[in-house]
Amino acid sequence: MNQRNLKIILCIPRGFCAGVTRAIETVEKALEKFDYPVYVRHEIVHNKYVVDKLKEKGAIFIEELDEIEDYSTVIFSAHGVPESVKSHANSKHLNSIDATCPLVEKVHKKVKRNFENNITSILIGHKNHPEVIGTMGQVPHGAIILVSKVQEVEKLDPNLNVAYVTQTTLSVDETSGIFKALKQKYPYLKEDNDICFATTNRQKAVKEIAPKCDKIFVVGAPNSSNSKRLVEVAIENGCKNACLIQNESEIDWNDFDNINVLGITAGASAPEILIDNILKKAKNYFNIEIENSDGKEENLNFKLPKGI
Ligand code: SF4
Repeated sequence: MNQRNLKIILCIPRGFCAGVTRAIETVEKALEKFDYPVYVRHEIVHNKYVVDKLKEKGAIFIEELDEIEDYSTVIFSAHGVPESVKSHANSKHLNSIDATCPLVEKVHKKVKRNFENNITSILIGHKNHPEVIGTMGQVPHGAIILVSKVQEVEKLDPNLNVAYVTQTTLSVDETSGIFKALKQKYPYLKEDNDICFATTNRQKAVKEIAPKCDKIFVVGAPNSSNSKRLVEVAIENGCKNACLIQNESEIDWNDFDNINVLGITAGASAPEILIDNILKKAKNYFNIEIENSDGKEENLNFKLPKGI
């Protein structure tokens, strides 16, 4: 049978970042080093495939420390935890290992420093995301204010002495809009966001390929903040037909009329095997030609956390 041609542009970089690799390795090493059971509080990273693989290896995922016995081993996820969770772990004499990404920890330190200097932190981020809950929980209630939209800046007290921090996985452009509104209210603020290198690089890559693509798949979980931002960036930059998928089973390969160029990227918590599976499946339907985007691969590694 004659197959139609399909060009696939793969974003570089895509998929796992240094913080995610470190968090997964932390769980794997803990499973080797400590007696059963090894608990992980919250999904270690937001990806079902990764979590399922770690479950197969023996990790037990929980949401709250009340669910586990005193003196157990528990790993905190890459998103970070509020101080109250660390205190709770101490009161239960847990062997806790903190896999919070070092770049999230950097934001925690800033917020604590602001508090010590009587400065109110404004956190630009998404309500209820675990990273935001963790960052808000570094200081007492009221010492940090969450802002998710430009309109929310209007409600802020102009007389406050403030500094701002951001969630690490936001859209660079959206954050810049909120910053401009903050700057009007607090003219002394300087633009300096905490969006991490991995988020920035993946957004830059998808921004570059978006105008060339008829369709873009972002491989990632529905609760992965950085993956959802990649879809938004693709749409805003010229590819209206961009969507989030968890794996190749969600693709309707018969729905490719008028699609000649397909772009693919993956959020920072999505493993490369999910992309390999898409490419394998695509070969059943099309003559595919693969092109890599112009970006650079990342080669950063973070040291494993204490206790591992
Ligand atoms: S996306 Fe950024 S902040 Fe999150 S784990 Fe990766 S490097 Fe760390």
